Amino acid sequence: MKIDRIDLFHVAMPLVYPFRTAYGDEYTIESVLVRMWSGGAYGWGEATPGRLPIYCNEWAAGVFALQRDHLAPALLGRDIESGQDLQQALSSFKDNYFAKGGLDLAWWDLHARGEGKPLWEVLGGSGPTVAVGADFGVMESVDGLLAEIDKAVAAGFRRVKLKFRPGWDVDMVAQVREAHPDLPIHVDCNSAYRLDDAAMFKRLDPYGLAMLEQPLAHNDLVDHATLQGEIDTPICLDESIVSVDRARKAIEIGACGWINIKPCRVGGLTVAVAIHDLCQEASVPCWVGGMLESAVGQSHNMALATLPNFSYPADVFPSDRFYAPDLAQPEVTLSGPSEMTCLDTPGIGREPDLDRLEAQAVARATVS
Ligand code: MG
Repeated sequence: MKIDRIDLFHVAMPLVYPFRTAYGDEYTIESVLVRMWSGGAYGWGEATPGRLPIYCNEWAAGVFALQRDHLAPALLGRDIESGQDLQQALSSFKDNYFAKGGLDLAWWDLHARGEGKPLWEVLGGSGPTVAVGADFGVMESVDGLLAEIDKAVAAGFRRVKLKFRPGWDVDMVAQVREAHPDLPIHVDCNSAYRLDDAAMFKRLDPYGLAMLEQPLAHNDLVDHATLQGEIDTPICLDESIVSVDRARKAIEIGACGWINIKPCRVGGLTVAVAIHDLCQEASVPCWVGGMLESAVGQSHNMALATLPNFSYPADVFPSDRFYAPDLAQPEVTLSGPSEMTCLDTPGIGREPDLDRLEAQAVARATVS
């Protein structure tokens, strides 16, 4: 299909409460919504790298400018028949995975709508329903955290992810484990530590965590392999995995037992599916992460999570967990305890509320 117009919206989405991680505290989430047109039909994508280049070296305003000035013009007027075609058209631009990813996601929604099928089916998923987990940022007190976990367990959530940063670390995990001896729990360090902290990570082994997510530097593989040799808890790589090649190298050197896949972190669904397939071949289980996207990006994440090697509940959250209201409609909701179901409409089945999109936009551009 020939791409004849791409609309870009850099938005700031107000959170219902601050999101606290090892990277700092955020009050709004900055994201770039992409609407890709072909012959009067369109699809939506979303890239959510954040306000500042602190999760990785991309940021929302930079993604918006790169898409507007270089990536979208490189697609305009071209016949893009597959995700591979799109990746090929952008391949002369190095890295910039989120910027490419937002365009790749929009192409997949456009393509699935054209096929008249839900995105999960077009991606080759095994069914519309996926398991999702509960996730907790750094909180004011462990007592407050324990109360929130009790609520999540009562609501039926099957696993809990805890953000982990200096000062909110082993003692916090010990208290959560004491309160919930059998609950699948893992911690996410968001690359806050170095190999010198190996002894501290060794102290986590007795708590039987499902995994230790991205303990070391955002671009490291080798030190993770060394750390994995010293601790029993399986390491999950997140920030470090930005491409199929990085995933291959991580698996080859034994840097991880799990891989978290966020479609935009790796350049889009095309690459996310390829990493999933590589991991499946290597018997390395995966799970789907998120970047606090609106219901647009979360719908892409949910569709990806229907593939068979996603073996741990995904970080896809009900819209009202972070946003009131969500930028996009219909909102994301649970379809059962700890599960969500992809909509049965062509593509992702969701799109931004256009008035809200205008109200939250800090910059907009049309490339045509
Ligand atoms: Mg993570």
